[in-house]
Amino acid sequence: MSLCHPNRGNVSCGACCGLFNLKLNTSEYKNLLLDRTTEFKKTVNFEVRHSFPMYRKDRETKEAHIPKKDEMTYNCPFLGYVDDTKQRIGCMIHPIFTGDPKSQNFSFYGTSICQAYDCKTKESTLADLWENLFVEIAKDSIEFSFLSADHIFTYAVEKFFSHSNWNVESMFNTFRLELMELFRMRLITSNRKNFTSFEINYDVFLTLEAVESYFESELGMDWLRWKDEWEKKNPNRGEVSGSFDK
Ligand code: SF4
Ligand code: SF4
Repeated sequence: MSLCHPNRGNVSCGACCGLFNLKLNTSEYKNLLLDRTTEFKKTVNFEVRHSFPMYRKDRETKEAHIPKKDEMTYNCPFLGYVDDTKQRIGCMIHPIFTGDPKSQNFSFYGTSICQAYDCKTKESTLADLWENLFVEIAKDSIEFSFLSADHIFTYAVEKFFSHSNWNVESMFNTFRLELMELFRMRLITSNRKNFTSFEINYDVFLTLEAVESYFESELGMDWLRWKDEWEKKNPNRGEVSGSFDK
């Protein structure tokens, strides 16, 4: 499978379908996804084509009152739960369920965009390693989506280890606990953001100082505490040889 739907665990990602554009908390996201799934199962018949647009119109009307973080970002009502245990989220009109390769044309984005889009983290050469880590950290699909969509933070983490002269193996193995802690800290602030995964990264993090300044602005005191611990464990940072071969 892929970062969107990992093989292991009971989590998946739906960030690029616009879920986080709605100003809700985690339990409200889950309730919304449950409502959509229940209504979809009750009203959409894959053999009856007009049942798709009717569902979409009905959900768009019902969800119109939910405040948005960005009025220009669409939140697709076809995102719902796609497993029996209601833990994995995904596209309820994906061809794998409907049997129709073009069924996502009933959505705002349409089949070609829905099927062609891959976010930066999914495109990364480290995607499998990030996927394993995020499955380990996330306690549900909401957290997994926050982590997967946040490609700028993930890139900053890569640059932090690279500028500190640690390689990929060290980052994912030797410092796995520290790495997990960084992302857990990130989850505390994630819901303030409107993660779609389309965000453009204007900062290439050319220096360690640039990465640290980004983390300080994103994580505040949590970052300073993490950094303090990190420096105690790694007093000679920058003097260790190694390469960040991606
Ligand atoms: S944001 Fe990335 S990982 Fe998440 S569903 Fe979209 S493409 Fe997949
Ligand atoms: S139709 Fe497209 S945007 Fe909507 S849930 Fe499916 S993949 Fe996401």
